[in-house]
Amino acid sequence: SAQLIVRKRYFTSAQSYSNRTCLSKIFLPTTKNISNTKNKQKHEQEENIICESHRLMFRAGLIRRSSSGIYSLLPLALRSLNKIEKIIDLEMTNINAQKISLSILLSSNAWKRTGRWNSAGSELFRLKDRKESEFCLAPTHEEEITQLVGHEVISYRQLPLRLYQIGRKYRDEMRPRYGLLRGREFIMKDLYTFDTSEEAALKTYEEVLIAYRNIFDKIGIPFVIADADSGNIGGTKSHEFHFLSQVGEDLVLMCPHCGYSANEERAHGLIPSTKQAENEINQKPTFNFGISENNRLIISILGFGHVLNIFKLKAANSENSFETIQIGKDIKDILNNNSYNGIDIYVDNTFQTNLTDLESFLSNPLFDENISKVIQSNKHLIRIHHGDFHNASPGDGCPICSTSSIPNSTNNFYPLTGHHAIEVGHTFLLGTKYSEPLKATFAPETPQNMGELKPIQMGCYGIGISRMLAAIIESSHDDYGIIWPSSVAPYKVCIIPNSDEPIIQQATRNLFDLLTSMDHELNGEVLIDDRTNLSLGYRIKDSELVGYPWMMVLGKRFLDSGRVEIHERRTRKKFDLKFDEIEKIFN
Ligand code: ATP
Ligand code: MG
Ligand code: MG
Ligand code: MG
Repeated sequence: SAQLIVRKRYFTSAQSYSNRTCLSKIFLPTTKNISNTKNKQKHEQEENIICESHRLMFRAGLIRRSSSGIYSLLPLALRSLNKIEKIIDLEMTNINAQKISLSILLSSNAWKRTGRWNSAGSELFRLKDRKESEFCLAPTHEEEITQLVGHEVISYRQLPLRLYQIGRKYRDEMRPRYGLLRGREFIMKDLYTFDTSEEAALKTYEEVLIAYRNIFDKIGIPFVIADADSGNIGGTKSHEFHFLSQVGEDLVLMCPHCGYSANEERAHGLIPSTKQAENEINQKPTFNFGISENNRLIISILGFGHVLNIFKLKAANSENSFETIQIGKDIKDILNNNSYNGIDIYVDNTFQTNLTDLESFLSNPLFDENISKVIQSNKHLIRIHHGDFHNASPGDGCPICSTSSIPNSTNNFYPLTGHHAIEVGHTFLLGTKYSEPLKATFAPETPQNMGELKPIQMGCYGIGISRMLAAIIESSHDDYGIIWPSSVAPYKVCIIPNSDEPIIQQATRNLFDLLTSMDHELNGEVLIDDRTNLSLGYRIKDSELVGYPWMMVLGKRFLDSGRVEIHERRTRKKFDLKFDEIEKIFN
């Protein structure tokens, strides 16, 4: 029967290629096969697919959905992921960072000491053990690592220290979507650095930025480094690494004149207002700051969530800088600060459900007695405005070009242009934000007084590895499928023997051996699509969908003229080469 023939074919081909990597043995459930369009649509609806990288990762058999924002990674996805990790490992070794692995299940203790048990809000997955002790699934690891290092480091002699890990993180995102781009479980590489002084920490920060540039250069997708705001993580200096993309939920503002880039929050800086309906569609919260005429501090929070997290200006007339605060922790300082007559917090309509949270949080006596007393007795000091805030932008100018220009001259205003972008990496100079509350201290080389201990100066640096995988595909695909950059392709070459004819089989073995022996980089990177029960046309389409940089067909042309039909995925160019000419395309 037909089925038997199919089985026999599989059997024959698998045997004839012995140890060489064959597609028939790989778990690669591509869905090109679903000829029925209705079925295909049904699948995509079930997986809730609304963007191209997600669709391609599903169709190319890289991922499958487990539940909302949670995915299984299949073999080919894992191969690419491992390649990204290898690139990172190498750069980390170059800057003397050591790899560790921290637990994902974390006790609430340290999180309470830094205030993030509360400020992380509902994004934190919380759970209890049988003794009712509170835990969370790590969304990030500042607390855990600071505690670990704080316990072990006693003296300046043990510093500097650089530790990183690659592991899973958990965030109960308000809107998990776009597949791996915004998951509730995702893979992050996170590096933490520990130095003895601010200067040393800054030097470290700059060194890591260079390593990050190298990583992104090696991956090979064009990227933008934006001056960033340090958000919930906190700290003083921060940068974000972005891939520009329509699907991106961030907006990067760039100066076409000098190339200055900043994320939106950072670029808006002191300008109160802005933040358009566009972002509300994306449901991403933004924070803007300003000072009213009667010297009230204005904070506008537009978009969903993150109510427990606001910012304060460093000083009324400082150079566009502000730092992150926990709403409860530092608000007293703002209220006691003579330079302000009070605070106005503007929240838009999307905040309806959380508004009471904000108010009750501010006046919760358990949180901070002093603050709640101030707020309750001086209602006028802090006002929460709630409504439909669609303020018009005054337009944002480039801080570099604009400062070099004549003040108030409209001719020298260089507007920044906005671009949607996917945040792939984020670096923060933390200072002592975590080492202070968690008492991670060391004895300095030259103590000012007996027994002096100083808090360690820290930095933290993240790369969203699973997000990066999807973002690469989002940035590099066409109508036929994924176009992998060679650096992270699951396999670099796919050989497709047209048939099981002995001559073709022998040529396939020879070609495989030639490729894997001639170039060290192709070792383990060549795959034979031995599924000769499937048509050649089908397998070519499948190979384009999965996106191997090179496809090599051994068929009629080989029998006629001894030439291999070579397809370059990126250009979709085809050329016929003899065996001894193939080497040159890899040089
Ligand atoms: P976003 O603004 O997209 O929510 P974030 O600023 O909250 O991200 P960070 O806390 O800076 O994220 O985490 C470091 C990196 O982890 C991010 O730059 C991103 O690449 C990745 N990351 C964060 N959240 C997710 C997620 N839900 N799914 C996949 N990757 C994520
Ligand atoms: Mg986030
Ligand atoms: Mg962000
Ligand atoms: Mg970030």
